[in-house]
Amino acid sequence: MDAIAHAAAHLQRGGLVAIPTETVYGLAAVARDCDAVARVFEAKGRPSDNPLIVHASTADMARECSALWPDAAVALARAFWPGPLTLVLPKAEWVPDIVTAGGATVAVRVPRHPVALELIEAVGEPLVAPSANRSGYVSPTTAGHVRGVWPEDEVVVLDGGACAVGLESTVLAVESAGLRVLRPGVLGGDELAKAAGVPLLDSETGGCSPVASPGVVGPHYQPTLPLVLASSLAEADTWMALGPAFVISPPGVPVAVDPPHQSMPMPADAEAYGRELYAALRDADASGASRIVVCAPTAEGAVWDAVRERLVRAAAV
Ligand code: AMP
Ligand code: MG
Repeated sequence: MDAIAHAAAHLQRGGLVAIPTETVYGLAAVARDCDAVARVFEAKGRPSDNPLIVHASTADMARECSALWPDAAVALARAFWPGPLTLVLPKAEWVPDIVTAGGATVAVRVPRHPVALELIEAVGEPLVAPSANRSGYVSPTTAGHVRGVWPEDEVVVLDGGACAVGLESTVLAVESAGLRVLRPGVLGGDELAKAAGVPLLDSETGGCSPVASPGVVGPHYQPTLPLVLASSLAEADTWMALGPAFVISPPGVPVAVDPPHQSMPMPADAEAYGRELYAALRDADASGASRIVVCAPTAEGAVWDAVRERLVRAAAV
């Protein structure tokens, strides 16, 4: 049996499979299977009030998850799926409450990765797939990041290479008055609203409230070592004076440091930086330093905004 057929059978028996997507690796279970979904929450240690994203292999399958599919959803699905965009819409009746954390809306997307798409096709129905890390830790962007977290007989790991985007999807509420970004991603609100032909609503007033999307506030994406964000090289120096540091350089500007400090260069390009960020945080976490000092990117744009949101929450205490 090939790897995908084996993984599909494991899912159909209520098992969990770590799957590659273009954003990060997900911990998948059959969305309709409440017991399997409960095992996802348990395996991650995820709070039960934080809803999961449902992954479909086609826009038609995604549509089956929602009770309402407005023109804006049609346009967004056509323009950006498969891709790193999650739509939040009123849930279809069949979607279990455990998936939506008891809420009336469901988050759905079609991922842009051949392994994920083939697997969903093989199972024949949508899968939940939150990031395949213990809740609150840095998201995995390679199969190696997932291996060893859970026993192999519990979680089957499909290796689809390094994630092409490396940051989680943009989570977008599709409301009657327009679109609201609940979690920034590489696709920015302006671009999405333009494609949908509807207004972009203020994220601050609705989406980022704990009620609207519990998983988008507070500390998250956190390495085990303390992480601090430095807004200048001078500030990085003051942190380094406190003990051995692992310095993540500003985009395109490698920082040279003397032992016991360590440093890592980062790409100048926003997409490349986003793709490499989580692997860099994991390397930093394993470095033996006393803290991680990230020189904060300052450039503008949707990808940098998404990067900064991750870094601010990684630094939150
Ligand atoms: P993860 O899959 O771990 O990257 O997290 C999924 C993100 O989507 C979290 O921030 C959730 O709070 C958010 N999310 C999932 N379902 C919904 C929903 N129905 N409404 C609002 N946000 C959601
Ligand atoms: Mg996550």
